[in-house]
Amino acid sequence: MTPKYIFVTGGVTSSLGKGIIAASLAKLLQARGYSATIQKLDPYINVDPGTLNPYEHGECYVTEDGAETDLDLGHYERFLNIPTSQANNVTTGRIYQHVINQERQGAYLGKTVQVIPHITDEIKRRIKLLGETGDYEVIITEIGGTVGDIESLPYIEAVRQLLWEMKEEEALVIHLTLLPYLSSTKELKTKPTQHSVKLLLESGVQPDILVCRTEHMITKEMRKKIALFCNVDSNAVIEALDVPTIYDVPLMMLKEKLDKTVLSKLKLSAKNEPDLESWKAFLIRHKNPKHEIRIGLIGKYVELPDAYKSIIESFIHAGAHNESRVRVQYIHSELIAEDNVEQKLADLDGILVAPGFGDRGIEGKISAIRYARENNIPFFGICLGMQMAVIEFARNVIGWKDAHSTEMNIKTKHPVIDMMPEQKKITMKGGTMRLGSYICEISKDSIAYKAYEKSKVSERHRHRFEFNNQFQKDFEAKGMFVTGVNPETKLAEIIEIKNHPYFMGVQFHPEYKSTVLNPHPLFIRFIKAAVTFSQK
Ligand code: GLN
Repeated sequence: MTPKYIFVTGGVTSSLGKGIIAASLAKLLQARGYSATIQKLDPYINVDPGTLNPYEHGECYVTEDGAETDLDLGHYERFLNIPTSQANNVTTGRIYQHVINQERQGAYLGKTVQVIPHITDEIKRRIKLLGETGDYEVIITEIGGTVGDIESLPYIEAVRQLLWEMKEEEALVIHLTLLPYLSSTKELKTKPTQHSVKLLLESGVQPDILVCRTEHMITKEMRKKIALFCNVDSNAVIEALDVPTIYDVPLMMLKEKLDKTVLSKLKLSAKNEPDLESWKAFLIRHKNPKHEIRIGLIGKYVELPDAYKSIIESFIHAGAHNESRVRVQYIHSELIAEDNVEQKLADLDGILVAPGFGDRGIEGKISAIRYARENNIPFFGICLGMQMAVIEFARNVIGWKDAHSTEMNIKTKHPVIDMMPEQKKITMKGGTMRLGSYICEISKDSIAYKAYEKSKVSERHRHRFEFNNQFQKDFEAKGMFVTGVNPETKLAEIIEIKNHPYFMGVQFHPEYKSTVLNPHPLFIRFIKAAVTFSQK
């Protein structure tokens, strides 16, 4: 079957949730038996978001094949339960880099290289790439940014060209807009939507379906009005109300018949009614918890929870699995010190120390870990969090007061965390970390093994520094064990301590692999330990 293409654009404002709408539609199509994937086109000039500070753009999500990508790809995987790849996220930087490299190789044979056709051709090539794999019947392409942005123009033009090239039933455009509510007159306003559709039309693109974000229900008359002024069918005006959780959106879109409208426009059969049994079962568990626990998330970007998106979603998945509500308390690592740690962390049932880079706030992380270790509070350290657990143990149990990571102190006599040798030669920052999936072998006698119930797993990475194996014996003599190891390189992947209900440090990022249908085993176990702790 020739794949069908769905383009999702956004108007009026940013942050309307295009990613969630795209993921929800893909979920519904998948639940009807179609193979679907989602791609995000980001109009910024960074080649990938790997070099972006989380304050700029939220978390950097990492795929199996080691691409550093936009956090929307995390939603795609969590909803669809299938992996994405480098091809699922393309930025303007990557497009231009490719075109400029081609130009340097003389590939354009003396032609003037221009936005149209060269940049737009490269955008179109990237869009069609996923279709050409033969793996998907439907490809949803989300165009980042808001219609009218200068940066988005080449993308909208590429969409216009594709619509012109393709048959009518081969592609369609969904435009996500906002219906603002004026509380003084108590009414929803449609004008911004009309204007943003006009902006799209100026670029030659007529949307087929409008998804309208709104705080209040849209009346029949209003649907008609929007349809008339925006030139769409009135069943193609979809109401997207605010809902308690993003995981309600697929069901809301089902009720609004977004999937059916899409299928009929693409001339695809509806097949069966969507099978959403396990999705609904998850929602029931999520909304009817028997327990409630408090987890402290210790990090330096806590002002912006998007910086820890995948971790927060992993809590939701693992919480539902354990029939527990997980209340996340965001605690700034810079505000924790030895003398206030107890007061800051006293009512927590579990402590997660987040990933990160650089030395801001790390002493607070170390104090928090000591507190969790000494008071038998379930602890989960991810990447930098694991590295800090190693340093804390070296300093306070082994007694090496100067123990450190060479990321923060290059001169320490006890570099318990050190750079991998192959990293030392690298000077370029972008895309050069240890990235993507690696195998980890787990020792039988460990909590990790109890969680995974298998001895070989694969997990995703994003880091330059490592546990320094030179010191492994000293750690084991005092009770900290490497319980997961990369079988080829012998790099430590998991550390645990004995005689603690849950003390887990992982060099990889389990949060990237937790999905609604497959909550991550280490998160499940962590939440379980926290529930037990809360009952004491
Ligand atoms: N800064 C550490 C490293 O590069 C940890 C990275 C992370 O937490 N993702 O190894």
